[in-house]
Amino acid sequence: MMEVEGRVALIGHPVGHSLSPAMHNRAFEKLGLAWRYSAYEVRPKDLPAAMEGLLALGFRGWNVTIPHKEAACRLVDELSDEAAEIGAVNTVSVQHGRLVGYNTDGWGYVQSLKEETGMAPEGKICALIGAGGAARGIAHALLREGADVWVFARRSEQADRLASALRRVGPGRIDSREWGQLRRRLGDVNLCVNATPIGMTPHRDAMPFDPGWTREDCVISDIVYNPRETRLLRKARELGRATCDGVGMFVFQGAAAFRIWTGLAAPVPAMRETVEELLDLRAAEGGPDA
Ligand code: NAP
Repeated sequence: MMEVEGRVALIGHPVGHSLSPAMHNRAFEKLGLAWRYSAYEVRPKDLPAAMEGLLALGFRGWNVTIPHKEAACRLVDELSDEAAEIGAVNTVSVQHGRLVGYNTDGWGYVQSLKEETGMAPEGKICALIGAGGAARGIAHALLREGADVWVFARRSEQADRLASALRRVGPGRIDSREWGQLRRRLGDVNLCVNATPIGMTPHRDAMPFDPGWTREDCVISDIVYNPRETRLLRKARELGRATCDGVGMFVFQGAAAFRIWTGLAAPVPAMRETVEELLDLRAAEGGPDA
């Protein structure tokens, strides 16, 4: 049963430029809920005390962002299958006084991919560029959908580690691939995802790979969402490739958290509109990255 009033939060370091408070508060307003979402700066050493404090204060749940996603796994009473397999929590829900940890990043990514490109990942070969926290969630969700995932990272040990950690997930298969072979291998993939920060400040003029290396029917996806159209996506669009930007992943991970907390379907269009408006405003002001 949904509470009439509720408080939820974001904890991370830094959180000052986060778009989550505006996105969630707009969603609560849209559905006429007396809920409120606020962001709190929490340094790593203070994470256990912050989570205990939010529980004691009666918060219904919270999002967890950089650098706390892994540490939060060890501070909850229970983990969803995804969070346990990914090894990171981005959403905590208070259920009967117990903390349950979820990871909605990967689901958010796949939902956005399906909605924006119509692609069904099952049976597809997906190249993932980068092997950090976001890549882990995306790889997990693609594997669950039945896609095969090839992980490329400039540090081969990082790509190997990600592939080994998720090898048992299935039904798709995951393997690391050599960074030096990127150009040759991209001709064999159906989807290519940038999961590095290349494309955002200070790497705005850079691309992680040339979309011209892919087949004409390959979908090019970038999880960077500030700027909304990165150089990679612009070039991919000019080449006639289908593209998927990072705004959808951000909105849908939030929509999944919204549903976990409130039990209600999130007003996704209103959330997306809020995020896009803020990104456009920041771009016009030449302001900080989101
Ligand atoms: P992360 O954990 O730091 O991982 C970044 C990955 O990119 C690492 O594999 C890193 O390799 C690699 N990388 C960084 N700079 C590189 C370069 N110049 N050349 C090649 N590889 C490079 O970061 P993350 O949390 O996964 O986030 C990655 C990006 O996704 C960020 O830009 C973030 O804003 C974005 N993101 C978007 C969403 C969304 O909802 N749309 C969600 C999460 C993250 P090294 O370890 O060798 O540096």
